[in-house]
Amino acid sequence: MYTMTKQLLIMIALGATSLAIAQGQPDAMPKGRSAVAIVDGQYPASFFPNTEQLGADEMRIIALGTGMPNQTKRAVSISYLVELGNGEKFLFDIGSGAMNNLFSLRPDFSKIDKVFASHLHVDHVGDFMGLHVGSWLSGRYTPLHFYGPSGATPELGSKTFVEGMKTAYQWDIATRSGALPDAGGQIVVHEFDYTQQNQVVYDANGVVIRAWPAIHSLDGSVSYSLEWNGLKYVFGGDTYPNKWYMEFAKGADIASHECFLPPKALAAYFGWSLAQATYVSTRIHTEPQAFGKIMATLKPRMAVGYHSVQSPENNQAIMDGVRKVYGGPLTIARDLQVINVTKDQIVVRMATVDEYVLPPDVTQAYKDAPRSDDKSPSEMIQSGKWDGYTPPPMPKK
Ligand SMILES: [Zn+2]
Ligand SMILES: [Zn+2]
Repeated sequence: MYTMTKQLLIMIALGATSLAIAQGQPDAMPKGRSAVAIVDGQYPASFFPNTEQLGADEMRIIALGTGMPNQTKRAVSISYLVELGNGEKFLFDIGSGAMNNLFSLRPDFSKIDKVFASHLHVDHVGDFMGLHVGSWLSGRYTPLHFYGPSGATPELGSKTFVEGMKTAYQWDIATRSGALPDAGGQIVVHEFDYTQQNQVVYDANGVVIRAWPAIHSLDGSVSYSLEWNGLKYVFGGDTYPNKWYMEFAKGADIASHECFLPPKALAAYFGWSLAQATYVSTRIHTEPQAFGKIMATLKPRMAVGYHSVQSPENNQAIMDGVRKVYGGPLTIARDLQVINVTKDQIVVRMATVDEYVLPPDVTQAYKDAPRSDDKSPSEMIQSGKWDGYTPPPMPKK
């Protein structure tokens, strides 16, 4: 009786959140870590992965990469992880270097099986195969799903990209097949028409993801919105300021949009002529004042600018540009920045991660998932084994 009363009191103290988590499937935790509920919206100053329960009504957005194709230790290429209180996780872009930051969070990879690509530049999809193999090794035992736009011609679309990756990495996949869960080796591509406006590209478990065109270099860049539980997150793909974003990003709680270096700073950084820098910054991308103007019009609960060459001087140039025209809530994204979103508050923090991280623990379902037989090299190659070494006997399975 006493135990029941105590349990009930704890549940009341924590609110409906903990009840929902208890009913749902919690993330597999690394050994030695346990997640506690956040009480009264009082978050720790820093986000330590796998120590906080996500509330049932809450969304958490983690920047995995916010920089450029010429990535640095502090800013790898673009990627965002969005986690929802219903237990689901979504990746938006997986640019080069982003796997490093994703891995540092030690997530439950059995839940990370969907990537939504804004376009096929390497700074947005360069780590896709790293994600495929890394997550397959670390807990994902179901297929990886790639959602992405078509191109002006079939060879410029997501289907060709994914099929090409599969072909290029045939040897890699073949070596691991059998040792790892069979289904985890599969990639399913969902290519959609990039010209469609605000079309639904994903709709399941109360999560609706829509896409619309962006204007960037060639046809085939898009932006996304994710709506769930009355919250709306917008992930802007690389773009010149466009009318579709202005229309379909309306009502966003979190509106992210690229916010490139202004022309002068870009010219100084790359050693380009001012003409070339102006073209790239204001015709292919969105410079800070344009970003500010977009956000001043949209008025999201939080504007997030990302995709820049990051250094103290550059960061200042970006901030100065935005603030000339926009005075609202603003975050200039950094790698491993964490945004918690509820109806009542938005909290922006940085994550603290270990330099040397162990792989995340895998679930029992991963261990039990069907595997075909291991493969071996040919007899000719095996005949080359040096007889001066004898390996230890194999332990029993
Ligand atoms: Zn791009
Ligand atoms: Zn880009």
